[in-house]
Amino acid sequence: MNEQNKRKIFYDYDYADLIVLAEKYNWPKFRVKQLLEWQAKSVQSTSEMTNISKDLRTLLDLEMTWPALKIFKVEHSKIEPVNKYLFQLHDGNIIETVSMHYNYGHSVCLTTQVGCKMGCSFCASAMLGFQRNLTAGEMLAQITMIAHTEKMHVSHAVLMGIGEALDNYDQTIKFLHRLRSEHGFTLSMRNITLSTCGLVPEIKKLANEKLPVTLAISLHSADQNTRNTLMPIAKHYPIEEIVAAADYYFSKTGRRVTYEYTLFDKINDQPLHAEQLAKLLRGKPVHVNLIPANEVDGSKWSSSKKGAIEKFLQILRNNEINATIRYSVGQDITAACGQLRRQSIQNN
Ligand code: SF4
Repeated sequence: MNEQNKRKIFYDYDYADLIVLAEKYNWPKFRVKQLLEWQAKSVQSTSEMTNISKDLRTLLDLEMTWPALKIFKVEHSKIEPVNKYLFQLHDGNIIETVSMHYNYGHSVCLTTQVGCKMGCSFCASAMLGFQRNLTAGEMLAQITMIAHTEKMHVSHAVLMGIGEALDNYDQTIKFLHRLRSEHGFTLSMRNITLSTCGLVPEIKKLANEKLPVTLAISLHSADQNTRNTLMPIAKHYPIEEIVAAADYYFSKTGRRVTYEYTLFDKINDQPLHAEQLAKLLRGKPVHVNLIPANEVDGSKWSSSKKGAIEKFLQILRNNEINATIRYSVGQDITAACGQLRRQSIQNN
């Protein structure tokens, strides 16, 4: 790692860090406020900070790594208001972030790790392995960059892009605190969804953080053997322990847990599988998102047929389980998470 990469990016300086810097260089306190405002405006270089003196900008150039991230590629969907970004980080790694405009607001699905260790057999991100964790500042910069580029405030964040957010626990928590800080960027915790493949100890830890985000657990099967086949991490955490951790999360936060269930043809989409899921979740304050799988090159699983999906939904509803079908956005722009990044890396 070179000298430049050892320094923190601008977005990794939170209020407390900037106070330390202000004391080190004897700046007046209002400088800290100015710098946080520039973070919220998503500046990518000190030259954009028009109310900061040239001497101070030179110092910031020396103290920090610039830019936090650069736009490497953007794909705009022609069928819905969805844009998929590839960002290049300061060390050359590429990440993927998706911007979605809904009638309720502007949502960003962001990446928490470069690659992923969890190895889910259907996932484009898993196929390229794991490189490193993102910092809280790199997570924040994805949001500010998109807000700045699209000239629209981001109202919702979904930690459901590349990586397992709870495997990067400390930086993810730091990022969430940054989002609700009174200094700089603010976003309601109720507008944030954090997805996990089911890391039981971290779910319990998160429940105790007093950060009432919506927890989305990728379950994909109520049968332990099937889940083991789809997701290697399943062997570490039995389904009953995951459901118990989700119940604990609800008891601590009052937030209804969402179970994500991706449907694969004849693997987990048959009436028997729906009955198993209904039995597991019956009577619990949960929501189930049924997600027709996106087919990924190199994966052995294929997407469920429409009839099977509708029948699955009906069985859940007959059992009084709240459930909806969620179609992936950006079907015309490599819809599966990590697919655009994978294509781009393989083509270079
Ligand atoms: S589905 Fe999520 S947890 Fe599983 S390998 Fe992909 S990014 Fe990681």
